Amino acid sequence: MKKLQNFINGNYCDPCSGEYIDNFEPATGEVYSLIPNSNADDVQGAVTAAEQAFPIWSNMSIEERSEILVKLSQGIEARMDEFVDAESRDNGKPRSLAAHVDIPRAVSNFHFFATAILHYASESHNMVGVGVNYTLRKPIGIVGCISPWNLPLYLFSWKIAPALAAGNCVIAKPSEVTPYTAYLLGEVAKEAGMPPGVLNILHGEGGSVGDAIVKHPKIKAISFTGGTNTGEYIARTAAPMFKKLSLELGGKNPNIIFADCDFDEMLSTTLRSSFANQGQICLCGSRIFVQREIYDRFKAAFVDRVSKTVVSNPQDPKAKLGAVVSKPHMEKVLSYVELAKEEGGTVLTGGERVILDAPYDKGYFLRPTVIEGLDFKCRTNQEEIFGPVVTITPFDTEEEVLEMANSTQYGLSATLWTSNLKRAHRMANELDAGIVWINAWLVRDLRTPFGGTKSSGVGREGGWEALRFFTEAKNVFVKY
Ligand code: NAD
Repeated sequence: MKKLQNFINGNYCDPCSGEYIDNFEPATGEVYSLIPNSNADDVQGAVTAAEQAFPIWSNMSIEERSEILVKLSQGIEARMDEFVDAESRDNGKPRSLAAHVDIPRAVSNFHFFATAILHYASESHNMVGVGVNYTLRKPIGIVGCISPWNLPLYLFSWKIAPALAAGNCVIAKPSEVTPYTAYLLGEVAKEAGMPPGVLNILHGEGGSVGDAIVKHPKIKAISFTGGTNTGEYIARTAAPMFKKLSLELGGKNPNIIFADCDFDEMLSTTLRSSFANQGQICLCGSRIFVQREIYDRFKAAFVDRVSKTVVSNPQDPKAKLGAVVSKPHMEKVLSYVELAKEEGGTVLTGGERVILDAPYDKGYFLRPTVIEGLDFKCRTNQEEIFGPVVTITPFDTEEEVLEMANSTQYGLSATLWTSNLKRAHRMANELDAGIVWINAWLVRDLRTPFGGTKSSGVGREGGWEALRFFTEAKNVFVKY
C-alpha cells in the first residue's frame, strides 16, 4: 500500500507520530493509500525549515522567483497525465474533468502568479512641497494555506502560487480526503529549483495538523478554503493572535432564469452549473429559479437531459458524473433528499445511489437529482448540500426572485440568464454575491477578485487581491 509522506525542508519524510490514515478511492470504496497523520510536531518542523528559508526566498530577485514558479507550472504540465490520474482517482471526479479543468487550471495559477509578480507595483503619494510617501509591499513571512477536497490541486495552487510569488514561505495542508496531487507537488517544486523550506506540505486531519497550523504563533497569515463552520472556528482561533485571514467558505448559489434568455445555451450551461464535479463546486447553482412563463418548458427539458446524464466510473470517457468524494458525504447528500421529501418536495429525477458493476459496486455514485415544490425558506433551500442535487422554483417578478435569491446566509456567486441588458445590470447590482455571471457560468479571469459575502467568506483571492493579501504594506515618508 502506497504511503504518502510530508514534504518538509525539500525532503519527503514520515510524520512524527509514525501514524497514517486511510485514503479511500471514491469510485471503488476501497482504501488505496495511506496518509501521514501529522500533528503540531510536524508543523514545528516545517516552521523551523521555513524560518531558515525565508531570508533566501524573500531576498531573491523577483525574476529568479518568477523563473522557479514558471518551472513549477511547466513541471506539472509535463506530468499532466500522472496528475490527472491521481486527481480523478483520489476525488472520484471524471478523468476528463480533471484533464480539462483541475490540472490545467493549477498550471495556469502557478504561471499567472509567477508572471503577475513581475508587474506588481506599489504606490507612491506625493505631498506638494512637503515630501513623498512610498509604500513598500513586503512578504509577510510564513503563511498557512489550507484547502478542501472538491478541486484539490486547483484550489491548493490558487493559494500557494500568490503566497510564494510574493516572497513568503508556505506551510500548506491539502484536505485529508484528497491528498495525492499535493503529495506529487513536492517533487515538482524540488525539480523546479525551489529552495528547501520554502514550500512545505503537511498531510493529516483538520482538527490536528490544520489546527496546529492555525495556532502556530510564527505563521502570520492563514488562507483557508472550506466549510463555513470550519472557517468560523479558524476565525475565532486566529483573530486574537491578529493573524491576517482570508476565508473562502460555503455557498448556496442562485441560478436565475428569465423567459427572455437564450434557452438552449441556458439549458446546456445549467446542466453544468448544477452537476459539474457531482455538484461539488462551491460555485454550482443549486437553487434554480425559473420565470413562470417558461417553467414547464424548462422543467420538461431539464429533467429529460438530467435523467439521461451518464453516471459512470471516472475512467469512462462518456462519464459526465463520477463518484462523490466519500461515504459520509454521500450519506449527507442522501439525507438532504429525504429532508426535501419531508419538507414537501417532489423528486423529479434521481434521488438515489447508483450501483455500478464490479469493481465499482461499492463506489459512492449518486444519480443527479432535481427537486421541485419547496418553499424558498426551507432547509433544503437554505443549507449547503454540496452534491448533485438542485431545486427548481418558479417566480414572476424581479423583486420576488431577488428576495428568494438573497434569502440565504451565503453570498458566493449568482448566475443570471436574460437578454434584457438593463435588467441584467440592475439585478447584478442587487444580488448579494461576490461573483455574478450573466449568461455564463464558471468563466474565470485570473485577474478578477474571487470570493463571497456574508457567510461565504472574508476577503478576496485572485489577481492583485491575492498579492495584497500575501504582502504587508509599509509606508515610508521622506521630507523634501
Ligand atoms: P472543510 O472545512 O471540512 O475542510 C477544509 C480544510 O480545512 C481541510 O483541509 C480540512 O482538513 C481543514 N480543517 C478542518 N478542520 C480544521 C480546523 N479545525 N483547523 C484547521 N483546518 C481544518 O471543508 P471540505 O469539506 O473539505 O470542503 C467543502 C467546503 O468547502 C464546502 O462548504 C464548500 O462550499 C467549500 N468551498 C468553498 C470554496 C470557495 O471558494 N468559497 C471553494 C471550494 C470549496
